[in-house]
Amino acid sequence: MLKCPNCQSKDIGKIGVNQYYCWNCFIEMTVSKGVINTHQVEEDGSLSSLDDLFDEQDRQFSM
Ligand SMILES: [Zn+2]
Repeated sequence: MLKCPNCQSKDIGKIGVNQYYCWNCFIEMTVSKGVINTHQVEEDGSLSSLDDLFDEQDRQFSM
């Protein structure tokens, strides 16, 4: 089960192929090669990466 690396919530919605959205803290996640990449949607609609905030270990995607 995919878990949000930011808030640990499991309230994750699928928004596309390998793309997920956390309804709890409103960040977007992309799963690629077993690693979760996190993005925040800015007010102007652009995406900024949040990957620097998390350890590589926290971003590992495991079933
Ligand atoms: Zn979250």
